[in-house]
Amino acid sequence: MLRDVRNLLNSLRFAFGKPSEYAPYPPAALWIEVTNKCNLRCVMCANSLVEKSKTGFMEWEVFRRIVDEASGYATTAFLFLGGEPLLHRDIFRMIAYAESRGMKVRLHTNATLLDEAKAEKLIASGLSLISFSFDGYDKESYEKVRVGAKFERTLENVRNFLKIKGSSKKPYTILQNIVEYGEDEETKRRREAFYRMFSDLPLDDIEVRMIHPWAGKFSDSEFRLPPVRKDRFYPCAYLWRTMNILWNGTVVPCCLDITGEVTLGNVREKSLREIWNDLPIRRMRRLMLERRHEEIEMCRNCQVLRDSFMGISGVLTKIMLYSAENMLGFRSTRAITRGIKRLRSLVS
Ligand code: SF4
Repeated sequence: MLRDVRNLLNSLRFAFGKPSEYAPYPPAALWIEVTNKCNLRCVMCANSLVEKSKTGFMEWEVFRRIVDEASGYATTAFLFLGGEPLLHRDIFRMIAYAESRGMKVRLHTNATLLDEAKAEKLIASGLSLISFSFDGYDKESYEKVRVGAKFERTLENVRNFLKIKGSSKKPYTILQNIVEYGEDEETKRRREAFYRMFSDLPLDDIEVRMIHPWAGKFSDSEFRLPPVRKDRFYPCAYLWRTMNILWNGTVVPCCLDITGEVTLGNVREKSLREIWNDLPIRRMRRLMLERRHEEIEMCRNCQVLRDSFMGISGVLTKIMLYSAENMLGFRSTRAITRGIKRLRSLVS
């Protein structure tokens, strides 16, 4: 609780203070890529750009060292980045370990490998939040996007998971749908019909997210995205509030850099604390503060720099919400956020 209060205050300090290239506070959240291997080839995922020879699994000792060092300050741990976390044979042990060190662990999975035994182990691990990536709402739309997956099988896996979870409060369970811009009414109607397949089950939330181009790895026109707004700019809060570690120990600037385009250091050679204010990250922060982000190729057109919520950077808002969710619980925080959004849409 105390660490979350501190993280929230440090995020406010970043939002309303004068950030410099040196971050005087530690990160609030960590993305740890337990593996970048994946059993699917989804059309909108940058994982398809990772060479097969550059894939692998994080070793237990590397994972343990990261958690031991970061659990003193980072209260949110995402145990995924570019791959499918259920492919890692130690995933249940990893979740249980991070949770035992006071971190709230969040997992994002395609659910294709989620049989009943894995469902039971996940629930027993103490996992705080699980989100099922279920893009598509019927066999045709799902299998077109989630190449290699079978609609009926994934649907059954998720439904079985929810039945096994029953009345247990953990993990908070989300069904996530990535949608394209400009969906027609018919598509929306079919998606609503899909959600009704879960109405008898203890699903906590449904998240509809817009497709994104992975910081320029896909072109905006490919995804029919609206043009990037150049009239707004918020320095990328990821650089001051999060750390992102790939399976091989490489630290990258953000969770969008799953191909390891920019290397900030490696946890096999340096501690997280050393990398946190080392020269590579300080250079990036400086360029960001001087609005010279165009000198960093992957940041050049990143939507993250344009999004805001009530005058605060959209990314920073999300990071603050993680702290709030850890303190107040997922249900209450999300209910409050929905209320605020509704209120805003009424007055705007
Ligand atoms: S601006 Fe975008 S690409 Fe650059 S570090 Fe932030 S999230 Fe990543």
